[in-house]
Amino acid sequence: MTADRTVRMFGGGAGELTAPAKSPTALEAMRLAKRYRGTWALRDCTMSVPAGRVVALVGPNGAGKSTFLHLVAGLIAPTRGSVRVFGEPVGQRAAALARVAFLAQDKPLYDGFTVAEMLRFGHHLNPGWDDTLARQRLAELDIPLNRKVGKLSGGQQAQVALTIAVAKRPDLLVMDEPLANLDPVARHDVMRSLMAAVAETQMTVVLSSHVVSDLTNACDWLVVLNRGQVQISGEVDELLAAHRMVSGPAELADGMAARMPVISDSRRERQADLLVRTGPGTPLHDPRWRASGVSLEELVLAYLRRPDTTALPRPTLTTT
Ligand code: ADP
Repeated sequence: MTADRTVRMFGGGAGELTAPAKSPTALEAMRLAKRYRGTWALRDCTMSVPAGRVVALVGPNGAGKSTFLHLVAGLIAPTRGSVRVFGEPVGQRAAALARVAFLAQDKPLYDGFTVAEMLRFGHHLNPGWDDTLARQRLAELDIPLNRKVGKLSGGQQAQVALTIAVAKRPDLLVMDEPLANLDPVARHDVMRSLMAAVAETQMTVVLSSHVVSDLTNACDWLVVLNRGQVQISGEVDELLAAHRMVSGPAELADGMAARMPVISDSRRERQADLLVRTGPGTPLHDPRWRASGVSLEELVLAYLRRPDTTALPRPTLTTT
């Protein structure tokens, strides 16, 4: 493991600085952009996330998720724009960074260390280290402290990495594809143990995935990133309430589509299914149409297929 990876995992030794007062906004990006040579990995990214949320950062491979998370963790500098964590500009105040734990995709652990040695390492690097919490979590997970990290299963390694990040007692935990390369049982177990840690510590969590279904039950805030731009950022319940699937006769679909923003449009010979941005309240005015709710997965997929479309957290139109 390189020094850089160590810093990424443990957050460096900046925790001795005085932490700034708690802001109600955990994360705020203002026209944030990052260019690698000729490629814009992130463009004009503006959003804010309230404290205490569990945020799903979703998007296809290459969408800019890792770039965004590295900017939030202060590991790279923006080409344009800015990002604030709990009101503090990232990169300017070490105290802000000390409140962030970043768990990289490649789970930075020393294979040759025992779990106990990894804990001692974490303790040494982090003044706010909660050793009781770390040992309790590992005991609950039946992970032996004397086992070499390299001898643990992939799921156990993910749990050790998560435990070390949580024991830092961050206000913001940022995780880049924490479930990648895990089998379905391990994915479930890691998410369950993450949610237990969230309930215990009240921290804000941002975790990325290109698999929407991994995150749908756990997250209460959704950010969809596509081609380097934010398509959606909002509270999951509000987003779901602001979208409906309306189904009716195909020959009337153009008229319906003219009345409200259509995110996806699927037409068969007789029936049209339109996923529209709308909300409860306003009637459809036509008994030949019926409206039903959409799942988070349907909503995300519909937006990803239309990269030019964006959704605001609050709807501007309403229907039943
Ligand atoms: P994601 O995490 O969503 O898969 P990334 O943030 O890794 O997306 O990448 C976004 C874009 O930026 C991609 O086109 C990728 O090839 C490019 N990119 C990422 N990191 C670098 C880098 N260090 N150098 C050059 N291009 C990069």
